[in-house]
Amino acid sequence: MTCPHNIYIHVPYCLAKCNYCAFFSTACPRPDWVQYTHGICTEIENWTQKIGRITVPTVFFGGGTPSLMPVSVFATIMNKLRDCWDIANDAEISIEANPATIDSEKLDGFIENGLNRLSIGVQSFDDEKLRFLGRRHNASDAIKLIEYAGTRPIRLSADFIYGLPNDTAKAVADMCHQINDLHLTHCSMYELTIEPNTPFGKMKLDMPSNDAMADMYIAIGETLKLPRYEVSNYATAGNECRHNMNIWDGAPYIGIGRGASGRVLIDNVWYEQMGNGEIFTPIASDTRAVERIIMGLRTVRGIKLDPEIKKVINIDYVNNHPEYIQVRDNRIRATEHGMIILDDIILNLVK
Ligand code: SF4
Repeated sequence: MTCPHNIYIHVPYCLAKCNYCAFFSTACPRPDWVQYTHGICTEIENWTQKIGRITVPTVFFGGGTPSLMPVSVFATIMNKLRDCWDIANDAEISIEANPATIDSEKLDGFIENGLNRLSIGVQSFDDEKLRFLGRRHNASDAIKLIEYAGTRPIRLSADFIYGLPNDTAKAVADMCHQINDLHLTHCSMYELTIEPNTPFGKMKLDMPSNDAMADMYIAIGETLKLPRYEVSNYATAGNECRHNMNIWDGAPYIGIGRGASGRVLIDNVWYEQMGNGEIFTPIASDTRAVERIIMGLRTVRGIKLDPEIKKVINIDYVNNHPEYIQVRDNRIRATEHGMIILDDIILNLVK
């Protein structure tokens, strides 16, 4: 029998493209939902042929803008998942939401069909910054959605972006105070990165320096009342995103939808999976160990120092750089300082 797999479902449509966004998504406010639903359900059936009747601990609808989906589309996909696989009784079922695409009635419809976690893209409390980012909602839309969702029997998260031109550690700390006032149990704080082939990539933006960005990152850690559990994620104990935690811990997952990818485990062999499963390539155990390091070191609890991990790391680097990386309780983890330069650490750590 195949082991449990987490499920990621990609919804590739957005109302419009945001100025910073390099995700696989298209501006398409009225997609052909019949065709989309048919495609996703067919993929689920194809996976069932390949992998059998698996147990599913988490389902995450990401995008794009999953909250653009009509409730009936979400319900049909959830029913297909339940028909084909065993969705665990305590499964976490998450949706990413843009406040411009969801109201109380739609949220209640999602909840009636199994949603139990909502991740809201708030990004900023400043309407001018939201316009600059190209978001199609204002701060009050987002706050109203948070307030309504807070009355429903679901877990809630909100995403924010910092490091815009002219942002300072003080401005980011002020944003964190406003987040604290919302009494969220989970939020994600993403540094604005300028990607080529986006509107921002074509503009000459006067971005904060690396040192200024590091100061903002430190200000977040010092101001938010939620503890950091991953480079960009903060939550009270027990309110971490289970789907992401499972993946960062190296658990298998299937990506469904054109822009999705996964890591699938069948008969003790790991496979890289992309798109609708047409690309399905075995992964060597050393390569998989490196992937686990890259993802696991993002988390505050780090990764277990098991034999596969030991094989691919340079333990001298760990011993010589306790300010960046440490071993505790047989787990290897980045320090607070190390989190800021994680990419450099990984380059030096892996043999
Ligand atoms: S809503 Fe999200 S996925 Fe869509 S364009 Fe904006 S940032 Fe990208």
